[in-house]
Amino acid sequence: MFLSKAKIFKIESFGAVDGPGVRLVFFFQGCSYRCLYCHNPEGWQQSCSLTKKLSIRQMLKIYQNNKSFYTNGGITVSGGDPLLQIDFLIKFAKVCKRKKIHLAICTACGNLHQDKSKYLKLLKYVDLWIIDVKAFNKQDHQFITKNDELNEKEFVQILEEHKKPYWISYVLVDKLTNHHSQLEELGRFIGGLKYLEKFLLLSYHNMAISKYNNLKINYPLVSTPVLDSSQKQQALEIIRKFSKNDKIWSSDSKT
Ligand code: SF4
Repeated sequence: MFLSKAKIFKIESFGAVDGPGVRLVFFFQGCSYRCLYCHNPEGWQQSCSLTKKLSIRQMLKIYQNNKSFYTNGGITVSGGDPLLQIDFLIKFAKVCKRKKIHLAICTACGNLHQDKSKYLKLLKYVDLWIIDVKAFNKQDHQFITKNDELNEKEFVQILEEHKKPYWISYVLVDKLTNHHSQLEELGRFIGGLKYLEKFLLLSYHNMAISKYNNLKINYPLVSTPVLDSSQKQQALEIIRKFSKNDKIWSSDSKT
């Protein structure tokens, strides 16, 4: 069903990591996953106390206000999972394309199977996809997200078939996503990709604990340590070794 306004819980005027250049980032409300390391639990439900409803016109007005900063950047739609509001997003993406505004979408593709034809429709309007890959087998995926469908991997294959540029992000969490076998599989996966422009290895942090407390949600990783830079470097080396792909960058600032 098309809603004339998007439900958005946060707006970042000068995002520096969710795509190239300086970006206006809209965080869309709603996500079907429950990732153990999620740092935006306020974005899970269909609405929260922070939710604003914005029309395309209102979103573009916010963009226009700081347009000069976005010359080499653009707009990123993140979340939550923005593709849960896919009908709105298709209209928004069409307008961005017409106005030559660079549009990036960050997603974990939670509703890929229900809305595959709409995902395909979006392909022609989106300049960059940032796919948050959670895991490489159903068991790990289920454990991390409470969903066992490997949607991110499947959508990456779709992007490859359609020759669309994309980035991949992966969150490194001690004892959860940092096993040698997982990193090896990640490396091999990346190594076979042609249209991958950038890989982001993101370090887990625990700065969202207060959000969980405020929302009265149990914080599942309370005893999980934050990895230090040498542990991250080791993980990166394993991924590099198995990917044989030099398109590997590292960022600490996204999660
Ligand atoms: S997909 Fe993203 S927003 Fe949704 S639960 Fe996972 S980390 Fe949080």
